[in-house]
Amino acid sequence: MADGKPVAECLFCKIAAGQVPATVVRETESMFAFKDINPQAGVHDLVIPRAHYANAVELAANAPDLAAALLIEAGEVAKAEGLAEDGYRVVFNTGTHAGQTVFHVHAHVLGGDFLSTFGS
Ligand code: AMP
Ligand code: ZN
Repeated sequence: MADGKPVAECLFCKIAAGQVPATVVRETESMFAFKDINPQAGVHDLVIPRAHYANAVELAANAPDLAAALLIEAGEVAKAEGLAEDGYRVVFNTGTHAGQTVFHVHAHVLGGDFLSTFGS
């Protein structure tokens, strides 16, 4: 069972702890939202729980309240970025074939204009 404890070599645990700099969008006691360093849309933010879980499914299985809180926080980030009215995309890449490169669960919040189709 994953327990949410910090992982020493995890980049996003370090960002949440302030040990690696990031451009902060919002922070709460349990969540941290920051700008993606390599944006794929006009607005591209990442939202993470401070607790370490490898991906969205592991988070939901072990800490369902935190999984719900992460989605709610993604909505708050979208509001803060002015995306709520026109819409936005929330993406959880899960595993290598999906392009997941950081194995600390993160919601991509993308918007700012019409987004391209996806799935290829
Ligand atoms: P994924 O490919 O779903 O695992 O997403 C990881 C995301 O983290 C990518 O979009 C990267 O551009 C982003 N990223 C990697 N390092 C940093 C960093 N130091 N600060 C902000 N975003 C980062
Ligand atoms: Zn982590």
